[in-house]
Amino acid sequence: MQLLVTGCAGFIGYHLCERLLDDGHEVVGVDDLSTGQLTNVNDLKARPRFRFVEHDIAEPLSIEEPFEIAYNLACPASPIDFGPRRLNILAVCSRGVWNMLDLCRRTGTRLLHTSTSEVYGNPREHPQRESYWGHVNPIGPRSCYDEGKRFAEALITNYANYHQVEARVARIFNTYGPRMRADDGRVLPNFITQGFAGKPLTVHGDGSQTRSFCYVTDMVDGIIRLANSDVTEPVNLGNPAEISILEFAREIVRLTGGKSEIAHVERPKDDPELRRPDITRARQHLGWEPKIDRAQGLARTVQWFEQYA
Ligand code: UDP
Repeated sequence: MQLLVTGCAGFIGYHLCERLLDDGHEVVGVDDLSTGQLTNVNDLKARPRFRFVEHDIAEPLSIEEPFEIAYNLACPASPIDFGPRRLNILAVCSRGVWNMLDLCRRTGTRLLHTSTSEVYGNPREHPQRESYWGHVNPIGPRSCYDEGKRFAEALITNYANYHQVEARVARIFNTYGPRMRADDGRVLPNFITQGFAGKPLTVHGDGSQTRSFCYVTDMVDGIIRLANSDVTEPVNLGNPAEISILEFAREIVRLTGGKSEIAHVERPKDDPELRRPDITRARQHLGWEPKIDRAQGLARTVQWFEQYA
């Protein structure tokens, strides 16, 4: 099969390409290298059946060949990007997704779009089911991403229905693993690099906010299953094992030598309190659930950071 992956230089995009190549497919990877890593592209280029196109999907794509599936993972996604890259994020989520839909319509390709748990905002329903409409500040510091991704879902739903384009939407919850950027500002790379440096781990606020972390190979497996399924409604993909950020910090301290203290620092505005996916839909319709628990996943990730980051 010939497949397209946008955001191939990014963390999940890289792992998705690797798995698709392992499965014997031909992959065309697209990335503008704004937040992705050139090393990821170079590692993919070293493999047969991979071709790279440097391009920002907010600009029209001139690709005319048909693909079986176009996986759209292109978008800056770390909260530290929500400041400097806010307009890029809005462009990618609007014009970028529109361009992907046009490409899919022209070439008869199915779209797998990666949405996010951020569409639920700071949720009032817990755990979050796909039927929940969310609690989002439309003008807050996270709005470029939250509302951008919500617009993308609205666009895909309406465009796909109007123009009869095949589309699938994954709502991705917090995901981690090797090849996260050490400086991407997310909690796990921050804590691991601070732990190895013997510096205090910067817990935002009292650390009572929760997240549920999914190992990247599980996430990739869910994305591929959804892309190949008949499920046209959005599907939550994530690991339901929930942990407070304070407890998470303690786990990382133990795994990185046990020398670091915990420092409580200011909590960013609109930081969601609770986040845990209800994955009933994925279980029932995709036969999917995460296989790698946090102990295994963190051991692999910490080891990778120690070796390479
Ligand atoms: N966080 C933290 N210390 C950090 C980075 C993040 O306590 O150095 C917190 C952040 O406020 C949030 C959680 O960890 O409550 C997850 O943050 P991340 O940026 O990884 O992703 P998010 O789930 O907010 O998109």
